[in-house]
Amino acid sequence: MKTLHEPARETPVAGEFDLCVIGGSCTGVFAAVRAARLGLSVAMVEQSFLLGGVATLAQVNEWHSLYDTAGRQIIGGLTADVLDKLRRRNLVLETRREGRGLCATFNSAELALDLDRLVVEHGIRLFLKASCVAAVGEDGKVDAAIIEDKSGRRAIAARFFIDASGDGDLLRQAGFGAWKNETLQPVNYQMLAAGLDRMMEGTGRDIWQQVRHRAADYGYPLANAVPWINRFPAPADLRNIYGPRLNGYDASDADQLTAAAMEGRRCLRSLLDMIRAELGPDVAAVSLAQALGVRETWHARCLHRLRAGELMDGTVFPDTIAQGTYPVDVHSPEGTVLRFLDGREQFIGRDGVATWRRWRDETAESPRCYHLPYRSLVPEGARNLLVAGRLIDADREAFGGVRVMVNMNQTGEAAGTAAFLALQGECAAAEVPTDRLKRMMVDGGSVLSLDEA
Ligand SMILES: Cc1cc2nc3c(=O)[nH]c(=O)nc-3n(C[C@H](O)[C@H](O)[C@H](O)COP(=O)(O)OP(=O)(O)OC[C@H]3O[C@@H](n4cnc5c(N)ncnc54)[C@H](O)[C@@H]3O)c2cc1C
Repeated sequence: MKTLHEPARETPVAGEFDLCVIGGSCTGVFAAVRAARLGLSVAMVEQSFLLGGVATLAQVNEWHSLYDTAGRQIIGGLTADVLDKLRRRNLVLETRREGRGLCATFNSAELALDLDRLVVEHGIRLFLKASCVAAVGEDGKVDAAIIEDKSGRRAIAARFFIDASGDGDLLRQAGFGAWKNETLQPVNYQMLAAGLDRMMEGTGRDIWQQVRHRAADYGYPLANAVPWINRFPAPADLRNIYGPRLNGYDASDADQLTAAAMEGRRCLRSLLDMIRAELGPDVAAVSLAQALGVRETWHARCLHRLRAGELMDGTVFPDTIAQGTYPVDVHSPEGTVLRFLDGREQFIGRDGVATWRRWRDETAESPRCYHLPYRSLVPEGARNLLVAGRLIDADREAFGGVRVMVNMNQTGEAAGTAAFLALQGECAAAEVPTDRLKRMMVDGGSVLSLDEA
C-alpha cells in the first residue's frame, strides 16, 4: 500500500478524567453511569451523533427476556430501569416468543432521548461525533485516548478506560490482543416505513409472502434474507423493517462498511419497489437507520474465552457478572441455527421456514440461564483497560448467544463498577476483587446470585 509521512505534532488535551469510555451504546452509557454513580469523573466518546449504538443508530428495537426459563428475574439494573421509563410512556410492546420468553419491542428514537438524559443527569462529559483513532501508553497502561472530532485531533487523559466500541478501536490501537472469526455474522440495514399495516389489514398474509415472487426481478437477495417487518411502538402506522442479512462483509474495514451500507440501502429500495408494484403506492420509507446493523467484528483476547459448552451447560463462574437466556443464534447464507438451553434447536432455512430438532438429548433438568465471567472482559496484559459489549472474548457459538443487548448491557454495568474498584484499590483490572464487584453491582441494582460459586 502506498503511504505518506505525516509530521509529528503536539496534541491538545481536551480533559483529564478518572474514566474514559469509548462508544456510547447502551453498554457504554451504562458503564459510564455506574461509574459516575460511584463518584468517578467520566468522559464518553461516541463516533455518531446519537447515543444507543445498534439499538438506536441501527434501529434494532428488541430486547429479550429479563427472566430465566423458570420465570425468575435474572437481569435488572439499568436495562430494567430504562425499559420501565419507556413502558410508562407507552413505548414498549411485549410479546412472548417461542423459546425466548417475553420480548420487549421499543421505540428506539425515544430510547436515545432517555440515554441523553441519563448522561446529563450523571454529569458525564460527552464527546459526540468523535472517533477514537489512537492510544497513548505503554507497559499495559493506557494514558490517553486520541480522538478526532470537529475540533481536530485531541487527547482524553484518564486513569482507566473501557472500550465499548464494538470494534476494539482503543484496545487494538493500544496494542492489546484481538481476534476475529473467519466467518463473521452478517450485517443488516434497517428503515422505518409507513403504510404497511393498512396494506396487511384483512389479507391474513404478511407482506413478504405477498411480494417474494418478485424478488429476482427487483434484485432482492434470497440467501437467508427474508426481511423482518417488526412493529414500532408509536401512534402511527409504522413498521421497522430489518433488511436482508448481508454476508461476507467485515464492518471494521472502512471500505467494506461503505459497500455494505450501500448494498443494504439498495435492498431496502428494491423491497419498497416490490411492495409498490404488488400492493399499490401507499407505502413509503420515513427514516433510514443512521448506522449499519453490525453483529460482530473483533473480539478482545482476554483472560478467559467463554466457550459454548460452558454457556449451554449453565456453568456458574466465581466471577459471574451477567446472566442470560437468549439462545445461541448463528446466521449464515444457508440459514439460521438457534440452540436453546432446553436442548431444542430451531433451523430457519433461506426461505424463512422453521423446523425443530434437538442439539442434545432430553434431560430431566436443563440450565435455567447461562453466565458470563468478568475475566472475559479483561484483556490479557491490560492494567487499566476493560472491554464491554460485543468485543467480549467468546467463541463463535457462545458469542451467538451472549451478543444480545440485555446481556451486553450487563457487561457495561460490570465494567463501570470494576473501573471504580480498580481505581479505589489501585490495582490492575485483573486484580479487581470479584466478590466485591458482584456485591457492588447488586447494591447498584443488578440481579446476581451472591452465594453461587
Ligand atoms: C440486524 C441485527 C439484529 C439484531 N437483533 C437483536 C435483537 O433483536 N435483540 C438484541 O438484543 N440484539 C440484537 N442484535 C445484537 C445487538 O444489537 C448487538 O450485539 C449489540 O447491540 C452490541 O452492543 P455493543 O454495545 O457492544 O455495540 P454497538 O451497539 O455496536 O455500539 C458500539 C458503539 O460504539 C461507537 N463506536 C464505534 N467505534 C467508535 C470509535 N472508534 N470511537 C467512538 N465511538 C465508536 C458506535 O458508534 C456505537 O455507538 C442484533 C444485531 C443486528 C446487527
